[in-house]
Amino acid sequence: MSAAPGRLVIGLTGGIAAGKSTVADLLAARGAIVIDADLLAREVVAPGTAGLAAVVERFGPGVLTADGDLDRPALGRLVFADPAARRDLEAIIHPAVRARAAALTAAAPDGAIVVQVIPLLVETGQQEAFDLVVVVDVPPEVQLARVRARDGLGEPEARARLAAQAGRDARLAVADVVITNDGSPAHLEEQVERLWRERLGPRAG
Ligand code: ADP
Repeated sequence: MSAAPGRLVIGLTGGIAAGKSTVADLLAARGAIVIDADLLAREVVAPGTAGLAAVVERFGPGVLTADGDLDRPALGRLVFADPAARRDLEAIIHPAVRARAAALTAAAPDGAIVVQVIPLLVETGQQEAFDLVVVVDVPPEVQLARVRARDGLGEPEARARLAAQAGRDARLAVADVVITNDGSPAHLEEQVERLWRERLGPRAG
C-alpha cells in the first residue's frame, strides 16, 4: 500500500553521524521534498503549540524559560535518568511529529518524491509506513570518528550516544536500500545518484 497516494514516500534513517542529513541534501538537490523529524520535534513544542502546553501540564512550569520557550536543558535533566518521564515526553512529541509529517506529505504535489528523515525510524517501528526504507550505514569505528569530529566529543561520550540507538543489524534488517557511507563524499554522492536514477527519479519524469 502506498504511504500517500500519488507520492513516493521514503523513510531515511541511520545511526548518529551516519550521513542522513548529507544524503537528504543530495536528494533535495535532485528534487525531493525533505521532511526532517528533528526539526518537526522542535516545531511541535514551539511557543503557543498544543505540544508545549502538554509538556508543561506533565512536567510543570519549571520546563519553561522566562520568555515562555521550552527550556531544553531543564527538560533534559528531568527525563535523563527517568525512563517513565522520557516515555511520557515521547508520547507527547512523537504523535505530534508524525501528524505534522503526514500533513506535510499530503500537501506535497502529486508525483512528488518525499523523503522523511527519521533518526529513530526503526526504534519507533515505523518501517511499514513508507514505500521505501533507505538506511545510511557506516561501520561503527567510522561512525565514532565522525560523531566525535562533528560534535567535538570525547570517546566515552561519543560511545554513550551511539549505545542509545537501535543496533546496526536492526536497521539493516528493515532496509529496502542500503547506502554505505564508509568512503569519500564523492562515493556517497554516486550511490545517491544511482538510487535517484534507478528507484526514484524516473517515476517523477
Ligand atoms: P547524520 O545526519 O546522520 O547525523 P551527517 O550527514 O550530519 O550525519 O554527517 C555526519 C558528519 O560526517 C558531518 O559532519 C558530515 O559532513 C560528515 N560526513 C558525511 N559523509 C561523509 C563522508 N563520506 N566522508 C567524510 N565526512 C562525511
